[in-house]
Amino acid sequence: MGVDNRNRTYAGDAPDEEQWTAIVGNDAAYNDRFRYAVMTTGIFCRPSCRSRAPKRENVRIFADSEPALGAGYRPCKRCRPTDRKLPDAEWVGQMTAFIDRCYYEPITLDRLAELYRGSPYHLHRIFKRIAGVTPVEYVQRTRIARATELLETTSMPMAEIADAVGFGSVPYFITVFKQRTGTTPSEFRRLGRRPAYEEVSE
Ligand SMILES: [Zn+2]
Repeated sequence: MGVDNRNRTYAGDAPDEEQWTAIVGNDAAYNDRFRYAVMTTGIFCRPSCRSRAPKRENVRIFADSEPALGAGYRPCKRCRPTDRKLPDAEWVGQMTAFIDRCYYEPITLDRLAELYRGSPYHLHRIFKRIAGVTPVEYVQRTRIARATELLETTSMPMAEIADAVGFGSVPYFITVFKQRTGTTPSEFRRLGRRPAYEEVSE
């Protein structure tokens, strides 16, 4: 055993067929799914790395860079597997822009993961780190903000608002709205649109 191997733990799993195919094909679609380390060199890479294909038996798979680093591997200088602050921010930026635009559609974590090509777990974690809230929470906040606007500026019936902002039903709309604002949508509309003292005449 060479000196370079001292701190390496040989953790990680052997690649399955899909992962191995991604590594051999330098498939960037897998960059958000895993990192691969090479036991003989002590280096880990993104799946898309164009460095020479390692021997399969020397490859170990990690879910992300952190566990690979934790197992004693060093990031490849060519594909810079740990270097992704900007790509992550851009990635999350694309998702928040999509939600801002399409909040009324049924948006789930799985749907985002499918559209933005990442595992739901990874996407959830990165999104939360960058946006400060989970994807689902971001969707709900966007819907509530839009509902608030509609309650303040229109006299649309509740059912139409619930529908327009993407809550499937009025009871669900009321529940979520009250959870986040402390009032029901009707109370909000009443209190928000005119001074409180006028309320009694209604
Ligand atoms: Zn690399």
